[in-house]
Amino acid sequence: MKDQSSDIANLHWMMDIIQSIDIGLVVVDRQYAVQVWNNFMENHSGLKPDHVRDRSLFEIFPDIPRVWYQHKIDSVFLLKNRAFTSWETRPYIFKFKNYRPITGTAEFMYQYTTLIPLLSVAGQVNHVCIIVYDVTDTVVNAKALEKANAKLAELSVTDRLTKLFNRGHWEECLQREYTRCRRYQSVCSLMMFDIDHFKKVNDTYGHMAGDYVIQKTADVLRSIARGTDVIGRYGGEEYGVILVDTNAEQAKLMGERLRKAIEEVTVSYEGHDIKYTISAGVSEYKEELSDHKQWIEEADQGLYQSKRSGRNCVSIFDPSNADSESSG
Ligand code: GH3
Ligand code: MG
Ligand code: MG
Repeated sequence: MKDQSSDIANLHWMMDIIQSIDIGLVVVDRQYAVQVWNNFMENHSGLKPDHVRDRSLFEIFPDIPRVWYQHKIDSVFLLKNRAFTSWETRPYIFKFKNYRPITGTAEFMYQYTTLIPLLSVAGQVNHVCIIVYDVTDTVVNAKALEKANAKLAELSVTDRLTKLFNRGHWEECLQREYTRCRRYQSVCSLMMFDIDHFKKVNDTYGHMAGDYVIQKTADVLRSIARGTDVIGRYGGEEYGVILVDTNAEQAKLMGERLRKAIEEVTVSYEGHDIKYTISAGVSEYKEELSDHKQWIEEADQGLYQSKRSGRNCVSIFDPSNADSESSG
């Protein structure tokens, strides 16, 4: 008699624990009809146990993808093994609003659910217990971290002023392109261009105006470049363009378009109308290039040839015209 009363006391405590635990507990039978519905489920769904008992889970929550989740539950009945669902496949099973104070940005509760077989005294599985974990905090934090990492990755390759690729990343791209050309004998041209008499812009209108011109030049470049062109800021007012599947003549045409577009632009800065030009040099990939640095060197030589020819022009690198000095 004593044993029986302590059993009942134990059962009573267990019920208390199940009711107050901060985890969702649902027990369904073979017809998916709800048999147990704890406080967590009641509080988040607003549905009282009396309202849900003996009703099918799929009738109460028509949003649950029935075929998929029924298959999960059936597999637990059949194999007498656990199953689970992760927020990564489906953010939630039960659509509950998110009330977490810290991660209030999430609209709904992200859930991880475990399905466990409940053995009867006779060793049969006639019920499955669904445990619902609220993983909103973890998910929101993980997503924030992922976003921060993506932002960092973007920042590490971007030039702050122009939002073009920075020199480091752009050079890495060129190195990759060089290797690709070497392996597959593909056609690719490199163009370097530099603003003419830029010191005068700085001296006349100030460094901030100079920065603004550098930015505007990047905007024009962006508007003219194709999606496959890799564009970067190589130095102060020097830019690099990798033109894949483009020979030197075609690259020169693109350079001419850019040159003309810049020539037509008027940059207005604090009441000043600033006009300026650019000079460019083009070098097509060829097998004799020992590395990507030499490729830059040749395009730079082309640029220097443009400067020597009076600026505001585009020159294809010509070895017979090459000079040991470079444009800087
Ligand atoms: P050239 O036609 O021969 O290219 O003449 P240049 O005056 O443009 O000469 P150069 O290219 O050698 O000089 C570039 C100047 O650009 C030198 C430097 O003071 C300035 N500069 C470099 N980086 C920046 C920058 O980020 N912002 C501004 N405003 N000026 C810069
Ligand atoms: Mg210059
Ligand atoms: Mg320069």
